[in-house]
Amino acid sequence: MDKIKMTTPLVEMDGDEMTRILWKMIKDELLLPYIDLKTEYYDLGLEHRNETNDQVTIDSANATKKYGVAVKCATITPNAARMTEYNLKEMWKSPNGTIRAMLDGTVFRAPIVVKGIEPCVKNWKKPITIARHAYGDVYKNTEMIVPGPGKVELVYTAEDGTETRELVHNYKSAGVAQGMHNLDDSIESFARSCFNYALDTKQSLWFATKDTISKKYDHTFKDIFQEIFDKEYKEAFDKAGIEYFYTLIDDAVARVMKAEGGFIWACKNYDGDVMSDMVSSAFGSLAMMTSVLVSPQGYYEYEAAHGTVQRHYYKHLKGEETSTNSVATIFAWTGALRKRGELDGNKELMEFADRLEKATLDTIESGKMTKDLALITTIENPTVLNSEEFIKEIAKSL
Ligand code: NAP
Ligand code: MG
Repeated sequence: MDKIKMTTPLVEMDGDEMTRILWKMIKDELLLPYIDLKTEYYDLGLEHRNETNDQVTIDSANATKKYGVAVKCATITPNAARMTEYNLKEMWKSPNGTIRAMLDGTVFRAPIVVKGIEPCVKNWKKPITIARHAYGDVYKNTEMIVPGPGKVELVYTAEDGTETRELVHNYKSAGVAQGMHNLDDSIESFARSCFNYALDTKQSLWFATKDTISKKYDHTFKDIFQEIFDKEYKEAFDKAGIEYFYTLIDDAVARVMKAEGGFIWACKNYDGDVMSDMVSSAFGSLAMMTSVLVSPQGYYEYEAAHGTVQRHYYKHLKGEETSTNSVATIFAWTGALRKRGELDGNKELMEFADRLEKATLDTIESGKMTKDLALITTIENPTVLNSEEFIKEIAKSL
């Protein structure tokens, strides 16, 4: 059989620990035998990030801007313990943070739905995708402990020196205060990423804030979304048979629990942080969750939602057997290959992505899975496979 040809390279960002081991197995067993794989390789493993003073992360993000599609392995975000473990020159920033800042994107997280792993919410039949705004609000706040009586104000000083003030509170006794911000540009990017992704995946888009209470802050989010939708997307949505729907955050939460799934739920930064963990755990497992960063310019970076699975890696180093789930990492590859195929008009590559996903799900549905899934499946007497056996079983179905 001839291998599938690629015209444009994918940006390949290798990573750390157990996911780095899975990365190589996936390439060797599931990709290289079938595809003449063209990638521009960037090693984001912590050692190489340290050697290059993290320049490699910046280079990989720039390459994503050049080629449009990247696939990323999970990477270590250094903390104090990693400083000694890897003898680091500096506590390098989270690669995901660096890449997100450079691509100015929105992160979409969707569960991989498979028979035998049932959501806790029984009416959820299709995945619910969370789109999380990744800039500002409480994540870039300024806080203050107010020690006693006195007033706290918000002060805006314009470039010409004019001041505008708003009283936050006239304190009669001690308390706390918080200031936070967002930017129209960032909210606009967020809105466009969401609308584009909805069209891309042919799913309706829900957006919710607390605009009845937050009449300026949250209302601005609501207005920007509506304006951009009416001006730039309404026609395309009508044509695609999908809708944009705005409601209050409490109403959205109630509706999500009663819904069937199959839509995108756009969330402000904090709501997305909280709701994505709720949705992913209700769907079964973090190891069955994909994540894609979509920039308003239409650059895509695919990855698994989980980390480097450090605990399994240390077992692996000791020569012990691991049963690490590679599904989310496989789906990061299929997502990227399908998008590459779509952009290049390469139908064979898109079909291969579909087939690899089907082979992966068929393997699980036939009762062969890793330990994390075996613990929660409704399939009776599942066969628990180790990390390598699971990938080899998928190769057989493929
Ligand atoms: P983690 O890698 O997500 O793993 C946490 C636990 O979840 C594991 O110990 C394991 O539970 C379970 N798990 C996660 N993925 C699994 C999989 N594919 N198969 C089976 N079980 C899985 O989080 P962590 O151990 O807290 O973080 C490790 C490193 O990852 C950190 O250095 C962190 O900075 C990094 N990280 C990177 C990203 C990213 O690159 N996007 C995201 C998050 C974290 P059991 O041990 O109970 O089996
Ligand atoms: Mg969180």
